[in-house]
Amino acid sequence: MTLLAVRALTKAFGGVRAANEVSFDIARGEFLALIGPNGAGKSTCFNMINGQLVPDSGKILLDGEDIAGLAPREVWRRGVGRTFQVAATFASMTVVENVQMALISHAGETYRVWRPAASRHRARALDLLAQVGMREAADRPSRELAYGDVKRIELAIALANEPKLLLMDEPTAGMGPGERNELIALVKRLVVERGISVLFTEHSMDVVFAYADRIVVLARGRLIADGSADAIREDAQVREVYFGTGKTFARGTS
Ligand code: ADP
Ligand code: MG
Repeated sequence: MTLLAVRALTKAFGGVRAANEVSFDIARGEFLALIGPNGAGKSTCFNMINGQLVPDSGKILLDGEDIAGLAPREVWRRGVGRTFQVAATFASMTVVENVQMALISHAGETYRVWRPAASRHRARALDLLAQVGMREAADRPSRELAYGDVKRIELAIALANEPKLLLMDEPTAGMGPGERNELIALVKRLVVERGISVLFTEHSMDVVFAYADRIVVLARGRLIADGSADAIREDAQVREVYFGTGKTFARGTS
């Protein structure tokens, strides 16, 4: 069943059509990769879906309701979560406090009177940390975390909001190959359990082919392919965009 339907989504910056009549669907529980060379329009599409950019035209139907042009807060409230947008307060709090803040916010509670080390939602926050493998770090200051660990905390924070759809624009940027695989494997395991749909961008083709249920390919603002890993691997237009004609996606390429 379709959760998100993007229809003829278009956005220009000056003369550049960053997204040009882009249309694709995301099914409930689907792990969908959006790929394409630098400048293809991936981030532009993400930012229209999450409400940071207003499309020039087109529709973004979430459960049939058009969310195009809604403010980020409204999109988030309707169940579209994002990882990797860390609040300014992040560094000043402990790891578990950050997850507690997300749970408080999700519950619609106010945290004006909330003090650090309060117990509200602590048990649930610890449970979420355990699920991302960060239970041991719960009471450490967030500023001390290694880069890859911050990504795991961000994932716990995103899950605290119980999204229907999780948007991840280059979640593994700056990571080595092993860490990339681990993070995407973790995300996939946690979202499959919950029936959450994911739209993600990832530069490593190995990771994309290993984990994506389906792949959508953009080039210069246009959708050029939409299909299974096998179909995308064999697609002549995709190969041309990435490598010039004749080449294939070799194993080990990232
Ligand atoms: P990708 O994420 O696939 O690398 P982007 O969506 O970031 O691609 O960019 C698509 C095109 O739109 C590029 O040509 C880029 O330079 C242009 N672009 C993106 N954002 C802006 C902006 N805010 N202002 C002007 N041009 C932009
Ligand atoms: Mg981008």
